[in-house]
Amino acid sequence: MSTQGFGPVAGSAVFRGISGQKKIIMAANIRIAHVAKGIFRAAKDTGSAVFMELARSESDLSGGYTGMTPQVFSEKMQAAAEATGCDVWALHADHISVKKGDAADVQATKDLIDAQVKAGFTSFAIDASHLFNFTGKTVREELAENIRVTTELAHFIRSRMHGREFGLEVEVGEIGRKDTEGMILTRPEEAVEFIRALNENDVFPQVLAIANGSTHGHVYDALGNVVEQLSIDIPQTKAIAQALRDNKLSVGIAQHGITGTPRDLINLHFPKGDIIKGNVGTFWQDVVYATFKVYEPELYKNIQEWTLEKYRPANPGKNDRQIFDGNCKMAIKEFYKEIYAVEEATVHAIEAMAYAESLVFFRAFSSEGSAALVRRTLP
Ligand SMILES: [Zn+2]
Repeated sequence: MSTQGFGPVAGSAVFRGISGQKKIIMAANIRIAHVAKGIFRAAKDTGSAVFMELARSESDLSGGYTGMTPQVFSEKMQAAAEATGCDVWALHADHISVKKGDAADVQATKDLIDAQVKAGFTSFAIDASHLFNFTGKTVREELAENIRVTTELAHFIRSRMHGREFGLEVEVGEIGRKDTEGMILTRPEEAVEFIRALNENDVFPQVLAIANGSTHGHVYDALGNVVEQLSIDIPQTKAIAQALRDNKLSVGIAQHGITGTPRDLINLHFPKGDIIKGNVGTFWQDVVYATFKVYEPELYKNIQEWTLEKYRPANPGKNDRQIFDGNCKMAIKEFYKEIYAVEEATVHAIEAMAYAESLVFFRAFSSEGSAALVRRTLP
């Protein structure tokens, strides 16, 4: 990949670098690439390592809803890293989701992974958490399909990386899943059994995503207003980390769905070091749209009208604000050309805002200084 020294480092190197430290590394989902330079610049200025990532839904072989294939995403991130001189970052494939787990599904997933490896990704999150056997009699039986598919894909990634090291995240417990009682949370024994089974299969992820009460995207009140997310279960998260340690399983926790969680709460109450990776996605999309609203009112209006026309029929009873909020991500691909052709001043404002917001995240995550720790472990 990039030979100028600003190409992505292995995700595993980042986790090794911060091992034992009370730090969380931000993983930013860059649905619209205009935020990337601001994030990289803040990472560089604070000495923070950072992950740049997109999930399968956001970026796949046909572009996903961001319109970026893995190759396009990789090129944009490498260019932004180089332009800002940021050298400690990983290119991460977030939520490589496998929802059915049959042969065709697994093969299509391998095709995606192939493209990600070719594009220079250095870190991968296999998400087979949907494959949960609700009639299983033991935890192992409940998780059998997740274990089988995660193992197969992890071995596939290793074979395709040809000896290069890489980050590996796996997932147990679907994030945001609810039943009639509320959120379904991952239990400590599930996390332990899952990682133990993977280790037995010669799969050693550095990081585990769990369901601990967060939701992807925004949280709403009964009127459809966006509200703060206060639902992350911190004691449960600590209990899982403790159970993993007690069983000598060496894996940290990935906190997904951070958007909306107050950063003072993160700063003072998140178990840093138990949680080692913090995913922030929708937040960055908000930064772009908030800027468009003022700098590109016509484009914003077009995006708004397209989204409402398309998604109103499927959302009876919801107000327009919530329909737009929940579906505006789908407009990114539709307006790809316009979004990437906005005025220089618009891009500048987005970058500045992304920079400032990143500073606050890096402080809340205590990631300052992590880049130097990672650099020491690099070959
Ligand atoms: Zn996620």
